[in-house]
Amino acid sequence: MIKINDLHKSFGDNQVLKGIDAHINHGEVVSVIGPSGSGKSTFLRCINLLEQPTLGDILIDDQSITATDACVDKLRQKVGMVFQNFNLFPHKTVKQNIMLAPVKLGLMTAQQAETEANMLLEQVGLKDKASAYPSSLSGGQKQRVAIARALAMKPELMLFDEPTSALDPEMVGDVLDVMKSLAQKGMTMVIVTHEMGFARDVSDRVIFMDGGVIVESCEPEILFSAPKQLRTQEFLSKVL
Ligand code: ADP
Ligand code: MG
Repeated sequence: MIKINDLHKSFGDNQVLKGIDAHINHGEVVSVIGPSGSGKSTFLRCINLLEQPTLGDILIDDQSITATDACVDKLRQKVGMVFQNFNLFPHKTVKQNIMLAPVKLGLMTAQQAETEANMLLEQVGLKDKASAYPSSLSGGQKQRVAIARALAMKPELMLFDEPTSALDPEMVGDVLDVMKSLAQKGMTMVIVTHEMGFARDVSDRVIFMDGGVIVESCEPEILFSAPKQLRTQEFLSKVL
């Protein structure tokens, strides 16, 4: 579904991504782990063109998203993104947050979007919060609304950038449960995370990044119990 060929990204003379090659298949759940500053967020942000790659190519369903005639709006519809800090619209209710994009882009009528929003709120366990404003929600609830909002666009691929890093520990489980059930439903997902237990349980594959390259990419059982690369071993010895 996604092919990434020799992806480079620099900010000025700071080379952040130094040639990333990766394939992600339909329905695959891929976790990306690695030290802070290794380029994980930049990698995700290139996949939905929040950052423009400096060099290299990204194909989604065999279409280049980096080609000059590529349609960014269409791409963004296919690719949902969930951030560490939720990014909800503060002056809209939970339900309005979820309905906004599909209605604005003419993908659904307001009525369709509302039906969809109700269903999604049920899915993330927040049916009773439809009329609440984000400021009245806990971090874990905000993040579940953010996931519902991304799903409202019916994306083919979901990107998560440390979705539980800003949460109090007792909120983490509810968010991970929602992500786990999405994975079980067959959603294609790329998840940057520090939750090693989750990465190990839920991922089909784990990518370890360091210094702007993929150091190692394999099944979680192998990566966590018998990593081949010294850099992976060193990183895991610090975080496990
Ligand atoms: P990670 O998510 O693994 O912590 P990032 O992709 O956020 O790493 O950042 C990697 C490097 O890229 C850092 O040195 C950071 O300062 C730099 N960087 C990221 N985004 C920008 C930006 N928009 N402008 C300039 N430098 C950036
Ligand atoms: Mg990051």
